[in-house]
Amino acid sequence: MAATELDQVVNLCKRRGFVYPSAEIYGGFRSSYDYGPLGSLMLRNVREAWIRTMVQQRDDVVLIDAAILAPPQVFEASGHLANFSDPLVDCTKCKQRFREDHLVELGGGPDLCPNCGAKGSFTAARAFNLMFKTYAGPVEGSGAEVYMRPETAQGMFVNFTNVQQTSRKKPPFGIAQVGKSFRNEITPGNFIFRTREFEQMELEFFVPPAESAKWYEYWCNARLQWYIDLGIPAEMLTLRPHDADELSHYSSGTSDIEFLYPWGWGELEGVAQRTDYDLTQHSNHSGQKLDYFDQANNERYIPYVIEPAAGVNRAMAAFLLAAYDEDEIDGEQRSILRLHPRLAPYKVAVLPLSKKDTLTPLARKIYASLADRYMVDYDDTQSIGKRYRRQDEVGTPLCVTVDFESLEDGAVTIRDRDTTQQVRVPIESLVGEVGARLGF
Ligand code: ATP
Repeated sequence: MAATELDQVVNLCKRRGFVYPSAEIYGGFRSSYDYGPLGSLMLRNVREAWIRTMVQQRDDVVLIDAAILAPPQVFEASGHLANFSDPLVDCTKCKQRFREDHLVELGGGPDLCPNCGAKGSFTAARAFNLMFKTYAGPVEGSGAEVYMRPETAQGMFVNFTNVQQTSRKKPPFGIAQVGKSFRNEITPGNFIFRTREFEQMELEFFVPPAESAKWYEYWCNARLQWYIDLGIPAEMLTLRPHDADELSHYSSGTSDIEFLYPWGWGELEGVAQRTDYDLTQHSNHSGQKLDYFDQANNERYIPYVIEPAAGVNRAMAAFLLAAYDEDEIDGEQRSILRLHPRLAPYKVAVLPLSKKDTLTPLARKIYASLADRYMVDYDDTQSIGKRYRRQDEVGTPLCVTVDFESLEDGAVTIRDRDTTQQVRVPIESLVGEVGARLGF
């Protein structure tokens, strides 16, 4: 994939209303983005595709929606307060980030970059906590601090007993959540790949300890397959196990699902074995039991956790990059998003051949019948060729053209985005035909 494709996708996103720089009229808010009419639809489609696979199609996973703000105790127990409070420096030459107190042991020195050897290239050290801290209530100060969650996961751990008892699930079972997380990233960038405010889709899957390795393997494969099923070519994905020195403090094994971004391979999703670390920590800190009593074997145990953790925005970036294509139709260049129909912002566009009053009522009626089920666009401006191009560029899988003959024969033309083939279909069977072609 050419590196220029990032620019092409970023430009398309801006031009067509997927993603805008945040607060652009004030000169932009660095590394922050707003999702426009099409981008917000696509984000929703990514979330819904995940919930469908991870919750709807399984009887062993339930969904929650926990608070974003949490008291310090949660992050004391999880280790986030201690682990994200280090002095960090950046090398301005090679862009690597280091803990200042690790420079010597990494083979550098107070003034020498251990990665590229540059001298005097460090930014000033910052005592850096990755979490955003704020205050609850009118008085700022100690006792009022709250944190914006840096991951959704803690919501599942602190609610483990509530959810397990109310849903009456037995391990192996999972708690899933989709929602915003916040990290005061030192080096955000690469478009929507890394931002300070982002959305995660996380599953905490609780298993008997002896089954941990089996489920870890299961989830690594299942999660990789999810991206392939939604249209990312297998050769643009890889599963990379972490080296021992990369592992998080809680993990006994992690693999990243990596995607081939225009700038190289990078993380798309992480699948971690978190052992019983989180439930044990929260149990110790809260004094509440967070375990499971297995009646069949008459034993009480703290479940082990397998965590597939994905990003909604990062997944959207990968889907867009993989789907972007250019080809030639009748000697004319077109750019096209070959998005899976589930992810495409609009599933169908209704295009009356003319704006004349004679056609509009029929076209509007057809629009309403399709919009009852799907997100549908309606476009009656400019030539039909231009309208097809516009829909191809935003990934709309099907166009329905209503022409003057439709008034006579009660039929319309369906045009396919990828093949550009057109077929005539009776209006009365249109909704069924569209459903069959979209595949859902
Ligand atoms: P990275 O090393 O790329 O910053 P991470 O290992 O810190 O990611 P995890 O803590 O494993 O990320 O979070 C799980 C997923 O959440 C990531 O795979 C990614 O899809 C998403 N994610 C994490 N941080 C960000 C961010 N700053 N912006 C956008 N998405 C993010």
